[in-house]
Amino acid sequence: MNFIFLGAPGSGKGTQASLLSRDFFIESISTGDLLRKEVEKNSKIGIIAKEQMESGALVSDEVVIEIIKEKIATKSCENGFILDGFPRNINQAIKLEEMLEKHNKKIDKVFSFDIEENVLIKRIAGRYTCKKCGTVYNRYFKPTFKEGECDNCGSSEFENRSDDNEVTVKNRLKVYKESSFPLIEYYKKKHLLVSIDALKISTLVFEELKSSINN
Ligand SMILES: [Zn+2]
Repeated sequence: MNFIFLGAPGSGKGTQASLLSRDFFIESISTGDLLRKEVEKNSKIGIIAKEQMESGALVSDEVVIEIIKEKIATKSCENGFILDGFPRNINQAIKLEEMLEKHNKKIDKVFSFDIEENVLIKRIAGRYTCKKCGTVYNRYFKPTFKEGECDNCGSSEFENRSDDNEVTVKNRLKVYKESSFPLIEYYKKKHLLVSIDALKISTLVFEELKSSINN
């Protein structure tokens, strides 16, 4: 069983990917992580990727597809895989499909983790962390029990990630929406798309995901 997971930053698709990977004994593939590993290993493809990154460009689709191709041929993917965060546009989707076809593989389902934009913004922009122990809180959904005091260690020092403010989050979501909309339409036409309501708590989202796979 091979899946693609689509979802905006903050939609929780990464959490779902690791849950599914554990439950179904399939590999969750993040192309970003794979690229980093290849660069660290100094492999042939890693060197090409590094050169492209150093020239200021994005890593080319060909390189990413090649890395996925090598990964899915390994034993860890023999039961299947989840592509988390790839493809990002139709071009990549077509190239992926061509590569899989050549290797007698296909994508069985594409899951889109949908969540309202204002909730996503609160999820990300509301996040803050205890400076001392690293416990993560959220202004809207999970504040400290006592205001200004970490539940875990009692410290009163907290920090926000600088790129987590509302403006940058809104921008990130806009970029995601613009690039993913055509992709979602593309997989709809192929009858592969399944929309998942990602607003619920993660255990319930996971139940919905599993029942959709077992159907
Ligand atoms: Zn703390």
